[in-house]
Amino acid sequence: MIDKQDIGRMLTAMAEDLNAARHELTELDNIIGDGDHGTNMDRGFQAVMKELPELLQHDDVGAILHHAGMTLMNTIGGSAGPLYGTLFMWAGMTCRGAVEVDALTFAGALESGAYGIAEIGGAHEGDKTMLDALFPACRALRESLNKGAALTEALAAAAQAAEQGVDYTKTIVANKGRASYISKRSLGHQDPGATSVLILLRAMQRSLPD
Ligand code: ADP
Ligand code: MG
Repeated sequence: MIDKQDIGRMLTAMAEDLNAARHELTELDNIIGDGDHGTNMDRGFQAVMKELPELLQHDDVGAILHHAGMTLMNTIGGSAGPLYGTLFMWAGMTCRGAVEVDALTFAGALESGAYGIAEIGGAHEGDKTMLDALFPACRALRESLNKGAALTEALAAAAQAAEQGVDYTKTIVANKGRASYISKRSLGHQDPGATSVLILLRAMQRSLPD
């Protein structure tokens, strides 16, 4: 079961890993966007870290995720702000009122967040966005849990699927977001948002319990 302490550890791992990867993310965004994705993500998750002690006053896992999402929405900036904000807010709404969530509920929350991103951003898989890592990861997570895997094992499968999704973004042309402005010239380059999704999944894998 995942409780508020686990969510606190997960958010902390995410903030640490995004901070470490901020130059890499910015470099990727420099090539096909405007070079702010690393700073944007780092700023958002550092803001969540600042309010983490206050967030953990809640026992409700859903409320913590939802609050974190609102903070991310207000602090990341760019297009990733509303998108990642939505991911956490929708995930939070899915488990609202729960002091503990099991692995399948957590997987459902992540799926709901992914659908939230698709809903507000209007992108589909194959448009070279964060969804090219997130949707395959959600499918791998559920498939793995359905086969009886423990959560960390299932998250490892999800991270592996996200990694393949990141590689896939190199082979396609951007149809959404800033990278679509350069259209065919985005071919061959890895999507920064798909890369930050992979970083978040690896952080989940190393911080959440079995
Ligand atoms: P901005 O593009 O406003 O500078 P960021 O650089 O922080 O914002 O984020 C860029 C990332 O956001 C892209 O790499 C892509 O993965 C993601 N993205 C952009 N538009 C969309 C969209 N409509 N749906 C899903 N993801 C998107
Ligand atoms: Mg950018």
